[in-house]
Amino acid sequence: MKRLKDRIREEGLILSDTVLKVDSFLNHQVDTELVLEIGKELVARFADKTITKVLTIEASGIQFAMAAGIALKVPFVYAKKKKAVTQSEQVYSASVHSFTKQETYQVTVSKNYLGPGDKVLIVDDFLATGAALVGLVQIVRDSGAELAGVSCVIEKGFQEGRGLLEQMNVSVESLATISRMAPGEIDFEESAKE
Ligand code: 5GP
Repeated sequence: MKRLKDRIREEGLILSDTVLKVDSFLNHQVDTELVLEIGKELVARFADKTITKVLTIEASGIQFAMAAGIALKVPFVYAKKKKAVTQSEQVYSASVHSFTKQETYQVTVSKNYLGPGDKVLIVDDFLATGAALVGLVQIVRDSGAELAGVSCVIEKGFQEGRGLLEQMNVSVESLATISRMAPGEIDFEESAKE
């Protein structure tokens, strides 16, 4: 997605060889119009599937899942990172190790909002090590829902996330794939779709 890649080049802050900050337009302050356009692109990659629900994980996936849900006119669900006191009903859960925060946490989704009969598109802001998305894939499989695939806004192609998901036979799409980065420099994979 050219507009997204241009914006990353203009405003992205590359903190190290592995961490990109996009807080000025995607992850902290949010450019709503750009996010709605991203939502259309995230779902366009799966246009041949009849998706009934979009799934993401709190917090930074929420605006993209909402935009994808708006584009498809279907609900979105976000997995919670710890079981809230109000969440008394039954949940699906998976444990996720965060490499950035060096901690393991549970992600949960209420059994009321996902189940057989759903066809799910998982979306997220970044595909990095893939740990968070692998947890969501496990939850979709546990629920008996069908998984259409995973659609990400930014993929760091030099990390192992795509490989892990593909080993699980998951179809993965990204709107901007970074092939290499270092403070002050960023290269994207050039593909016709992106
Ligand atoms: P994972 O390593 O499980 O693929 O990524 C987990 C989460 O960490 C992503 O959904 C994203 O929120 C965050 N993350 C991973 N890499 C980056 C990065 O380079 N920049 C930012 N801002 N967040 C990241």
